[in-house]
Amino acid sequence: MPKKKITKKKIIKTKKMGARAKTVKQAVLPLAPAIPPKPPEVPQAPRGMRDILPADEHLWHAVKKEAEELSNGFGYGFIETPILEHKALFARAVGTVTDIVQKEMYCFKDQGGDELCLRPEATAAVARAYVNHGMLNLPQPVKLWYLGPFFRRERPQAGRFRQFHQWGLEALGDSHPVLDAETISIALAFFRDLELPVKLEINSIGCSQCRASYKNELVKFYTPKQELLCDACKMRLQINPLRLLDCKEAQCELLREGAPQITDFLCEACRDHFMHVLEYLDEAGVSYNLNPYIVRGLDYYNRTVFEIFPVASDDGKQKTEDRTEGEHGGEKKEAELNEDEENPSPVLNLLSSGAQSALGGGGRYDGLIEQLGGRSTPAVGFSLGLERIISYMRSRGFSPVSGRLPRIFIAQLGDAARRKALLLWHELRKEVPAVASLSKDGLKAQLEIANRLQVRYAIIIGQKEILDKTAIIRDMEAGIQEVVDYNKIVGEIKKKLAGDA
Ligand code: AMP
Repeated sequence: MPKKKITKKKIIKTKKMGARAKTVKQAVLPLAPAIPPKPPEVPQAPRGMRDILPADEHLWHAVKKEAEELSNGFGYGFIETPILEHKALFARAVGTVTDIVQKEMYCFKDQGGDELCLRPEATAAVARAYVNHGMLNLPQPVKLWYLGPFFRRERPQAGRFRQFHQWGLEALGDSHPVLDAETISIALAFFRDLELPVKLEINSIGCSQCRASYKNELVKFYTPKQELLCDACKMRLQINPLRLLDCKEAQCELLREGAPQITDFLCEACRDHFMHVLEYLDEAGVSYNLNPYIVRGLDYYNRTVFEIFPVASDDGKQKTEDRTEGEHGGEKKEAELNEDEENPSPVLNLLSSGAQSALGGGGRYDGLIEQLGGRSTPAVGFSLGLERIISYMRSRGFSPVSGRLPRIFIAQLGDAARRKALLLWHELRKEVPAVASLSKDGLKAQLEIANRLQVRYAIIIGQKEILDKTAIIRDMEAGIQEVVDYNKIVGEIKKKLAGDA
């Protein structure tokens, strides 16, 4: 089609018509008061997901450093699996009748039609990687650790987010009970090193055979009383009776008291395995509480299962029965929190309100790798929730690691000094962390920032110092200044900081 030619004449004509139409309208309708345009809404982080800010940097740094040191120290190799996995992986591994798979996964079909999910947990992906990379041909057990974000679309609550971070270890390829004790003892060392008092709750849920007869007994016990159960537990009785044990509804907790206990149904091999785990823990000086209600909600667990809880300093010996939480979907009685509220210590609040919040948990999953198409490969592992740990640390007044904070501020006056300051900054930061506000002009403004950052020394470079090839080192606490040779600044600063330490 030939393009219509737009001429200047036409534009003028159109403009005139527009002007005439406006005049006619204005004559008929009264002018509406001008409504100021609504300011655009400020985007917010998705519900249940949070920004991690510099104010918490020292806490994140401390937990990550501790996790890395322990993992490396015990010979675990780092693994990073994709944030996205095929939906089928979690359905097969975690179980189709679990809350995670039924309600909590973020899934979508990508442009190629693949059904993908944001990973809700790590073990299934680590087991997949173990099979995919032929790790069964490596010397067993293969020991791996991971640290990263996970996603569950849960109801945001105190200490429960939709994006959260976990550190975890997995030891794959060996069923020896000493490995259960090893991984548990490493998890507890983490808390000991960070001076966080915790308690370990442990149980054995046996193998599929002992669980089958136990489930029958549970159903026999609960069926005549099912009218007394909460609605969710009525369903659980049909599809996953083990989960009746981690319900937190008062009427279900009451009924549970008379329920048969799994440990009475363990086959000889499972009982023997569990006894050995406990013996190794005893040998390692690890204290624990036997808790028959710890069942963990995921399908892949067998034999040893455990959870770790914070201990209020004045309440180190709470009743075992008070502590079950059911991380994987047991009815939770925590105070619901708007996740926007800055709660300084959800963990402590939960403790003081009598509710509990697991800092981590784990157990054995001897059937998972075979279920994913690999050879029969026993395995054990745990994961700890970093947000809850950080909240616990904060509540205990964990102080910043001073070595990480910048202790030097570089101030400059004039453009030549600004250029020199940038160069000096690069030289200095190889030895000590330093900060500067190079865009600022006035010395007063810069020293105010230095004060706010609580640095120990400020290095000041002005026009005179550029000419003299010197710099001023100002002791920010004493207010004393001295002039030093420019080439000696780094050495002088190091000497001063070492003298302070
Ligand atoms: P799980 O993978 O469910 O066994 O969880 C292990 C640990 O991760 C828990 O004990 C919590 O500390 C933490 N965790 C699990 N789910 C969440 C969540 N939605 N928000 C924050 N932390 C979580």
